[in-house]
Amino acid sequence: MLRTLLLATALAAAPAAADPAHDLTVAALPALMEQYRDFHAHPELSLHETATAAKLAEAARKAGYEVTEKVGGTGIVAVLRNGPGPVLLIRADMDGLPVIEDTGLPFASKVRATTAAGLETGVMHACGHDTHMASWIGTLQNMAATRSRWKGTLVMIAQPAEESGLGARMMLEDGLFTRFPRPQFALAFHDSASQPAGQIGVTPGYALANVDSVDLVIKGVGGHGAYPQTTKDPIVLAARIVGALQTLVSREIDPQQSAVVTVGAINGGSKHNIIGSEVTMLLTVRSFTPAIRKQLLDGIARIAKGEAIAAGMPEDRMPAMTIKDEFTPSTFNTPPLSARMQALWSARFGKDRVVATPPVMGGEDFGRYWLADNAIQSLIFWVGGVPQAKWDAAQASKSGLPSLHSAYWAPDAEKVIATATEAMTAAALDILKR
Ligand SMILES: [Zn+2]
Ligand SMILES: [Zn+2]
Repeated sequence: MLRTLLLATALAAAPAAADPAHDLTVAALPALMEQYRDFHAHPELSLHETATAAKLAEAARKAGYEVTEKVGGTGIVAVLRNGPGPVLLIRADMDGLPVIEDTGLPFASKVRATTAAGLETGVMHACGHDTHMASWIGTLQNMAATRSRWKGTLVMIAQPAEESGLGARMMLEDGLFTRFPRPQFALAFHDSASQPAGQIGVTPGYALANVDSVDLVIKGVGGHGAYPQTTKDPIVLAARIVGALQTLVSREIDPQQSAVVTVGAINGGSKHNIIGSEVTMLLTVRSFTPAIRKQLLDGIARIAKGEAIAAGMPEDRMPAMTIKDEFTPSTFNTPPLSARMQALWSARFGKDRVVATPPVMGGEDFGRYWLADNAIQSLIFWVGGVPQAKWDAAQASKSGLPSLHSAYWAPDAEKVIATATEAMTAAALDILKR
């Protein structure tokens, strides 16, 4: 009894068990939120992230990192060497989107810009990359403050142009793995619009899809709308192609595999009584494996050509198909690291805050780092951002919640940043532990 009492007294008198991942994050949170609001109010479009990059470079330099700017466009590489040991890469992405913000937040973006396509638009951090950057700063500061607890090298990268699928490739092509320490581990997170704020989601294996953008130009022979016999109508042909494309996934792909073919835009014609000579179709094509990707792309070409032949189109008026250069490869989370991190975070946050999430058909170019070197253990995880009250209301009413890229996407940024920074710091301390 006495012994128990003494032990209890000793425990009570001892300082709270130091948990740097948690304690440092809590202490830094007010400043991180200020940085988040600044990023949110000043978003920049893909490949134009110059002011954003400068802020990140400054934060990394202040924390004692060796900073290189303009890696692959506006990219930042911040290195902290802390003796021999593993090399861990942690990535945040910097770009906003051409979306006119409608969240009503007091720090909502009023930024306007013209896109590369000449569209005048608002700019918004509608994908939550502002939360990624604030957590990136929090993590690098935490890791600098805990040097005595880990060994190895930390490579913090801030990547441009995730939304256009170019940024990771540009950083790799600019020597990310040759000019800087080559990682054995790579981590990133994305805020989630389909999980309650503060919940972590881990998807082992394929997590995000191959994303192909395909342009189809359906050619015809134009003429008078009242004399169709003198024309080859590309609008009727385009309609047939749209219909036939629906059978690609439903009739040709193994039902156990995942695939999407969406015709997102179809443009042709000018007037009621004119049969035009061309219709343009813009498609998004999604898959996980290279084999399914090839099957879909080959199938689209075959269906377009086959329908044109069926319509009696002359050989020189066959549809033209272009697979756009902005292809984003699927993201693969290596299973051992996924399992290790899920166990680590479950122990820290509790099992109900760390869940296994199914793969999605969205895209992310984070997968390119692993594709460039399959020896890397790689994981991108989700951190839920839906404010709890909105989440609960949506569960009760089954009403919809805004998705990522929505003008209404206003995550509970404090919970996202606190959770992500703590999770990332704990992960880094575990991977690089002494
Ligand atoms: Zn996005
Ligand atoms: Zn994103």
